[in-house]
Amino acid sequence: MDNIVIIGAGPVGATFALLAKRQGLNVSLMEAREGPSRETRSLALSHGSRDILDAAHVWGAGLHATEIHAIHTSQKGGFGRSLITREDGGVPALGYVLTYADLQTALDAELEVQQIPVQRGAVVTAFEERGDHVDIRFTQAGGEHIREAAVVVLADGGANLGKVPAISITEKDYGQAALLGHIETDTPHRGAAYERFTPEGPAALLPHGGTKEYAMVWVSSPARIDALKALDDAAFLDAFQQHFGYRAGRFTQIAGRRSYPLRLRTVSSRVSGNITVIGNAAQALHPVAGQGFNLGLRDANDLARLLADARRERVGDLIFSNALRKYGLERNRDVERSVGFTDFLVGAFSNDHLATRVPRGVALALVDVLPFARRGLARRMLFGAPK
Ligand SMILES: Cc1cc2nc3c(=O)[nH]c(=O)nc-3n(C[C@H](O)[C@H](O)[C@H](O)COP(=O)(O)OP(=O)(O)OC[C@H]3O[C@@H](n4cnc5c(N)ncnc54)[C@H](O)[C@@H]3O)c2cc1C
Repeated sequence: MDNIVIIGAGPVGATFALLAKRQGLNVSLMEAREGPSRETRSLALSHGSRDILDAAHVWGAGLHATEIHAIHTSQKGGFGRSLITREDGGVPALGYVLTYADLQTALDAELEVQQIPVQRGAVVTAFEERGDHVDIRFTQAGGEHIREAAVVVLADGGANLGKVPAISITEKDYGQAALLGHIETDTPHRGAAYERFTPEGPAALLPHGGTKEYAMVWVSSPARIDALKALDDAAFLDAFQQHFGYRAGRFTQIAGRRSYPLRLRTVSSRVSGNITVIGNAAQALHPVAGQGFNLGLRDANDLARLLADARRERVGDLIFSNALRKYGLERNRDVERSVGFTDFLVGAFSNDHLATRVPRGVALALVDVLPFARRGLARRMLFGAPK
């Protein structure tokens, strides 16, 4: 029974479906959302993620992404800054910024082209392991139903994570929240992204949209974020200007301010019997290093490859159990390193102690003057942790 059911046709679940289908696997999706996505959040993609979307045939025509050509990193109230350019990475762009809904539209269109079944309006509520298959319980059009699958790939962003047997969840609350928005300035960005570490948390600008437009992320305490969200536009622009400085020019307009709490969520295992987790269902990270979504796409890519290999080398009925075990083990290293890197940045840069401000400045200055350090950091941002 080569019947792989993916719960959640979001960016990671849909990408997995497309990659798996291209490699000859029989996949279908169940998705709670009925219509097109209206999610306005900006997603930052690494160069490696672009390659994965390219392999899924969703990169290119119709998908509008803004290229990142350089990343400026600095700390407020301290010396030291670093500049990583696309030349350091040896690639046309260090990364790309796009809107969630635009990516989802491109994925939905390709799912149709590839004739991958998507059961829309199906809200999954529980799973039961039945030895050789899994029963998926879901509600649709007011009724309760059950569907069988040989393998369940959980890509629902974490909605059903607590219901998977043998997977326990660890959460760390950073005591911070992120304020997101779309901001304009009077100066062209020329592909530059900025990350500024401040004692209250990082602030980032990612070029997105027009030549003077950025996706903004401001991390601070939840109380301060609530207060910033309540300001009128002019007062908010003033506050952000003071906080960020003038590196990106004078801020002129802000739109779409919204906030979310910042937590690290990891799982004890990525596999429970015939159920496996990918994307935000498997890990949710602080946005400081822009690693979370890229990790999710690498989950999708690796799982599709391992399941397709297992399908080709089919022995007996248990064709996928070894592949799932391998996926669980192989992804650990990448995830642990990305979580460690992100956690280190949050801890090391979110304070104002002189004892850490000085080494931080030295580290940023060293990254700037040492070509191998710049290249090393560029490769991590581009492709994730070394294998
Ligand atoms: C509030 C918020 C803001 C973020 N902002 C940024 C950002 O600015 N930049 C960035 O790079 N990353 C950001 N992230 C992270 C990024 O959005 C995720 O890494 C990415 O969306 C992960 O994709 P996914 O497909 O794994 O999960 P999701 O995007 O969560 O998709 C899950 C899919 O599953 C479906 N689903 C959910 N429950 C069920 C169910 N019970 N049954 C069936 N289907 C279901 C949903 O409808 C959805 O389509 C943010 C995350 C959050 C939560």
